[in-house]
Amino acid sequence: MTSPERTREPASIDQLLGFTLSDRHARGRMVRLGPVLGRILAAHDYPRVIKELLAEALVLTAVMGALLKRDGSQLTLQAQTRGGAIDLLVCDYRDGELRGYVSFDPKRCAALGEAAALSDLFGEGYLAVTFDLDATGERYQGIVPLEGQSLAQAVEAYFARSEQVPTLIRTAIDLRSNHPIAGALLIQHLAEGEEGGERLHVRPDHPEWQHVAIMGGSVEPAELLDTELPLSELLWRLFHEEREVRVQPLMPVSRGCRCSVVHFEEVLARFPKEDRRDMRDDNGVIVVDCAFCSREFAIQD
Ligand SMILES: [Zn+2]
Repeated sequence: MTSPERTREPASIDQLLGFTLSDRHARGRMVRLGPVLGRILAAHDYPRVIKELLAEALVLTAVMGALLKRDGSQLTLQAQTRGGAIDLLVCDYRDGELRGYVSFDPKRCAALGEAAALSDLFGEGYLAVTFDLDATGERYQGIVPLEGQSLAQAVEAYFARSEQVPTLIRTAIDLRSNHPIAGALLIQHLAEGEEGGERLHVRPDHPEWQHVAIMGGSVEPAELLDTELPLSELLWRLFHEEREVRVQPLMPVSRGCRCSVVHFEEVLARFPKEDRRDMRDDNGVIVVDCAFCSREFAIQD
């Protein structure tokens, strides 16, 4: 890998970087979120343990979503649970726009304390990953049990079980200051190399994948969180011995939600008249809540 881009680029915050290790038949995505993460978390009054979990879910959603084309396709990460402190966690990513929220039981969460295990938070949970491809209207969904020590491990298990794609994921979260930071690295082995190429049988113990997994796995949490370290330079640190690393242009990530009066008017218009009548309050207004934004919209019916 040559490093012409080692001249200082703007610090990589709220940005995604895509890359391909051609000789190793691997592709990857890196993300580092700062102000975008802060804005999403600030829309809710979450306890620390829920903030940590949502931050991890958001960077995971971003790196998975960045596997899709920017053509209106959407990636949705959803954790549905039974018997845990959390009822539902939803994040989605589309065309560089990210959003997410968690619905939980405050009392049960408080009882768990700061160091709650994933199994305490989710009980018997399932992780659903949905790819909606806008160009073709196709939808792929994989569902795996929520197991492991972290959401990142659960997503690794999703790729292994549901897609049979060896995948390494590393995340790092730092919410201690008023400027929360979170980062993630995802690398996958694609048997026949090029993105979009036909997938043949992939063995996780393939030597070229093992090499990539070792190099990628050496990333330090501090590197994912270092806002002075451009993502392209971090990529260089990890893979500078590779003959060729193809790097895509940096992609900005923003906090995005589709909620608006117009959006909800369109949604409500699809309901039968009688249903809408039942939803109206005494003033003839239908109040709709956006769970992502913690905002209420008063729609005149
Ligand atoms: Zn919203």
